[in-house]
Amino acid sequence: MANEKSAFDMALENFEIAARELGLDENIAKKLKYPERCLIVSIPVRMDDGRTEVFEGYRVQHSTVKGPAKGGIRYHPNVTLDEVKALAMWMTWKCAIVGLPYGGGKGGVRCNPKELTMHEIEGITRRYTTEILPLIGPEKDIPAPDVYTNPQVMSWIMDTYSMNKGYCVPGVVTGKPIEIGGSKGRNEATGRGVFFTIQSALNHLNKPMKGAKIVVQGFGNAGSVTASMLNSAQSHVIAVSDSKGCIYNEKGFDIPALIEHKTNTGNVIGYKDCEEISAEELLALKCDVLVPAALENAITKNNAMNINAKLIAEAANGPTTPEADRILDDKGVFIIPDILCNAGGVTVSYIEWVQDEQHLFWEEEDIFKKLEQIMKNAFQQVLDLSIERKIAMRIAANMLGIQRVAEANLLRGIYP
Ligand code: NAD
Repeated sequence: MANEKSAFDMALENFEIAARELGLDENIAKKLKYPERCLIVSIPVRMDDGRTEVFEGYRVQHSTVKGPAKGGIRYHPNVTLDEVKALAMWMTWKCAIVGLPYGGGKGGVRCNPKELTMHEIEGITRRYTTEILPLIGPEKDIPAPDVYTNPQVMSWIMDTYSMNKGYCVPGVVTGKPIEIGGSKGRNEATGRGVFFTIQSALNHLNKPMKGAKIVVQGFGNAGSVTASMLNSAQSHVIAVSDSKGCIYNEKGFDIPALIEHKTNTGNVIGYKDCEEISAEELLALKCDVLVPAALENAITKNNAMNINAKLIAEAANGPTTPEADRILDDKGVFIIPDILCNAGGVTVSYIEWVQDEQHLFWEEEDIFKKLEQIMKNAFQQVLDLSIERKIAMRIAANMLGIQRVAEANLLRGIYP
């Protein structure tokens, strides 16, 4: 992956393609390319063995033109400022595509949670929150979970922020446990949203969901929920992977049992009745739907030719490089781009924030109905534009998001 473009270069390249297609005013384009704010913080933590360790963390606000910045926090050893800037920009377009009154933000801490105790993760989280405190707040910037962060981490962020304010502020973060102002359905929201877009895409392609063969790269929150929903709709999930390895069963996995195995052991490896395969083999499997649900740069110019899927549903952010995009386009693969495909997470985050602000909570059924309506509506708008302009779904999605943010920028003008 060393010779691949950085995530921010990828985000800029996709931005420029869409801006050209839109005929976007150069002055607005110039403004939209830069994040509004990037904060780099040092996070000293007393480790359980008495040592002091210092971690680096980031919070980036790409845009707050349409509302508070919104975006997850990632804990991963490879997090960089460049990656967080890209993820923040993608959040801006994503929120605009699904019509949420938010801008885009993202955060990250360079650390390896797999080598840390709960106590150390709590220490990192509380100090990171304290360092980014001037930027965040329910009206300013609202974090959420991302790779290797979860509802417990969100609880510590909410508590640290609230202790500093002197009163309880549940709306500062989404993806919290229900007991402290979280929303029903938030945990499954991203995967459920991915499922709705796959449903719409298969419908458009005239392919049945029943019996469809599915491959999922990255069996975490987004990947396992997508797999579970597809399994319930009688598709066959024939291969899955996580950071420890990949497993294959041509008849399809019993997904609830596989989730239980992953919960108990921490990995998918070691599950019964299956074959271990390599990461390259997994991506090259013949299937109807490939769901990259891990990290950026999974599908590159080096492996795009080997992809044997009809449809790619990008549950992850940035899994396909622009070079790979062109190869897949030539092969006729239909791609549901990340900024549309995984927007279910931020959509239910929005619903959680609305509930927190109003102190009035919704039933799961109403939340899922709203989520389905928003996701299917956004899919249709992107599809219509892609058909009308004869362009790939990714370009259409970027155009839709960028145009809405550009219009808001034009209306507000440049301060002062
Ligand atoms: P997660 O931490 O729950 O899961 C990530 C999974 O990916 C883990 O199972 C991990 O083992 C696996 N993984 C890591 N490296 C891998 C590799 N090289 N090959 C295969 N698997 C690998 O994280 P998540 O929240 O599910 O996020 C996954 C992706 O979805 C990210 O790109 C994230 O930005 C995106 N996303 C998540 C949400 C959300 O609400 N959680 C919303 C939108 C987008």
